[in-house]
Amino acid sequence: REKTQLMDPESIRRALTRIAHEIVERNKGVENLALIGIRRRGVPLAERLAAKIAEFEGVALPVGLLDITLYRDDLTTLAQQPVVHKTQVPFQVEGKKIILVDDVLFTGRTARAALDAIIDLGRPRFIQLAVLVDRGHRELPIRADFVGKNVPTSRKEVISVYLQEIDGEDKVVLQEI
Ligand code: 5GP
Ligand code: MG
Repeated sequence: REKTQLMDPESIRRALTRIAHEIVERNKGVENLALIGIRRRGVPLAERLAAKIAEFEGVALPVGLLDITLYRDDLTTLAQQPVVHKTQVPFQVEGKKIILVDDVLFTGRTARAALDAIIDLGRPRFIQLAVLVDRGHRELPIRADFVGKNVPTSRKEVISVYLQEIDGEDKVVLQEI
C-alpha cells in the first residue's frame, strides 16, 4: 500500500561501490576471496560486487549461489524455517574467505542456514556477510559485516528490492502490508 522510496539507482550503485571497497580493505586485498549470493536477489548483488572488485583490483573473484527459501511449516511455529534447495558453489570453499551476499537481513535465519550449507562443503578460512538492507528484528546472534543501508522497520513493513537483472530497474522501497 503506502510506499516510501529508500534507495534509487544511484544510491544502490554507490552503496555497492562502497561495500566492494570495504571488502577489499577489510581483507587487505583479494587473495582467497570468493562470493556466494543467496537467491534470488543476492546473486546479482554478488555478481555486481565481483564486477566492481574486478574493476578496482583486476581480479575476477569466483561467485557461487545458494537457493534458500523460508516456509512456515505449521501455524504453531513462531517463525519461518529456512530450507536449502540448491547449492551451486563452483570452487573449493576450503581455506577461502567467503563473502555471503543477500538483499535483506531480517531475523538472521536465512544467513544461519547459509552458513550451515557452506560449512557442509568444507572449512572456509572465515565467512563475512554483506547485505544491501538491514531491516533489524534479529532473532539470532548474526550481524552483517557490510551493510548498504540500515533501515529500522516495524514487523508490519516489508522492504521491496528491485534489481535491474531481475526486475528491470534498481530501487528499494519500504512498504506497509
Ligand atoms: P531472515 O532469514 O533474516 O529473516 O530474512 C532474510 C531473507 O528473507 C532474505 O533472503 C531476504 O531476501 C528475505 N527477506 C526478509 N525480510 C525481507 C523484506 O522485508 N524484504 C525482502 N525483499 N526480503 C526480505
Ligand atoms: Mg531472499
